[in-house]
Amino acid sequence: MKRIVVLGAGYAGIRTVKKLYGSGIDAQIVLVNKNPYHYMTTQLHEVAAGTKEPADITFDVAQTFADKKNVQVILDEVIRIDQDAKSVELKNNAPLQYDYLVNALGFESETFGIQGAEENGWPIIDINTALAARKHLEDTLKRYKTSHDPNDLRIIVCGAGFTSIEYLGEIVHRMPKLAKEYGFPRNKVKIDCIEAGPKILGMFNQDLAQWGVKYLEKKGVTFHVSTPITEVKTNAVMSNDKEFPANTIIWTTGVHGSHVIADSGYDQKRNRVVVEDDLRVNGHPDQFLIGDVSGVPNPDNGRLFPTTAQISIAQADCVAENLVALMNGQPTKKFVFKALGTVCSLGPTSGIASIDMFGHWNLKGWIASIAKKLIADRAVLELANIRTMLESD
Ligand code: FAD
Ligand code: NAD
Repeated sequence: MKRIVVLGAGYAGIRTVKKLYGSGIDAQIVLVNKNPYHYMTTQLHEVAAGTKEPADITFDVAQTFADKKNVQVILDEVIRIDQDAKSVELKNNAPLQYDYLVNALGFESETFGIQGAEENGWPIIDINTALAARKHLEDTLKRYKTSHDPNDLRIIVCGAGFTSIEYLGEIVHRMPKLAKEYGFPRNKVKIDCIEAGPKILGMFNQDLAQWGVKYLEKKGVTFHVSTPITEVKTNAVMSNDKEFPANTIIWTTGVHGSHVIADSGYDQKRNRVVVEDDLRVNGHPDQFLIGDVSGVPNPDNGRLFPTTAQISIAQADCVAENLVALMNGQPTKKFVFKALGTVCSLGPTSGIASIDMFGHWNLKGWIASIAKKLIADRAVLELANIRTMLESD
């Protein structure tokens, strides 16, 4: 029996295994993940801001596949892939041989080599980093009562991509409660968002972008555009000579793929590999790369599609079909992606959205936040099972 090894139980990996199992394929399917749980990365900013708990956005990987005979879950860390030997080196278990490999190891925080970013910035990339960012913020705000250090009430969010904006939405929502709980003056809190580019929310039309920016500004956020961060100190962010002091520095300036990609000798840029039309790796017909470790050129403009859960899930569906085709000696199909739009939350009760389903819809306010919640629930429904969805609030 052939062995298909899937690395990573994120959106891409879990979905691949579910689809493969559902296809009735006659193969042993092995899923490797370093944590016992899957986390919904699309809601990590909520855990980081403290508006959700880890249990709200995680489910048990092994339990999801417990009744699936030909699916084995290995909880271990992938160190590297020996592409010639068709073997995966694991931290705690013996090397794992594969006939086919689906690499879906996901993303890590990008620092662009900026001095002090790794040491002094708090990234939001998984449950542990989200919890660490939350603890640091809460401890720092709490300390103000005794320290009276204005920097304890200053928060800097680095970059104004989606992760930063969604985090800002949650944190401004929670701030009144935090002020009450920790006894600090709400009006002395200063939240700065520092962006290198000239625009905020440039991926939306001007009306939606302005609405989103104004919404956050009204709640106390100050945006600084065309302000590239050049250094991160323990209690300040530098943009060339300009200093922005703060004792909490959230580092959300973007992501790159898993370091395992470079460590395994792939032809990569920022740990992303541009894949073939059918999502296989050039020169390695036994390997598929999907999710945030892969790059798929958009035929409309030649640039790579942004890395999203949406494209990861679509890729997983295509890979499962292509693996079934290969096992049956049939040709693989080309991956074609049609984005269904974008939703950016601005806290639990607001957001902006540009959706291309049954026409084109531009949404703002509570209706956009309902769209985001429905999409998240659908993801849980499809990735885990209906019980998990009903149990989460
Ligand atoms: P990941 O989700 O990163 O999953 C990788 C998996 O592999 C994880 O389970 C990880 O634990 C495991 N793993 C990693 N390294 C190893 C190793 N060495 N050994 C073993 N296991 C390993 N996209 C959207 O479409 N919509 C959104 O609303 C949205 N919101 C987002 C909000 C935030 C705060 C963030 C950070 C991202 C958001 N994204 C969103 C982007 C989306 O989350 C990613 O594109 C998506 O998670 C990529 O899925 P993946 O399966 O490739 O990787
Ligand atoms: P991103 O790359 O989309 O945004 C990072 C931002 O940081 C950019 O605006 C960039 O100009 C800025 N930046 C980079 N270096 C800087 C510097 N030195 N100084 C100041 N600013 C700097 O990263 P992200 O927000 O983490 O998102 C990662 C991926 O996940 C993206 O593909 C995104 O589309 C996706 N995502 C989607 C959603 C959603 O759909 N709601 C939410 C979060 C993330």
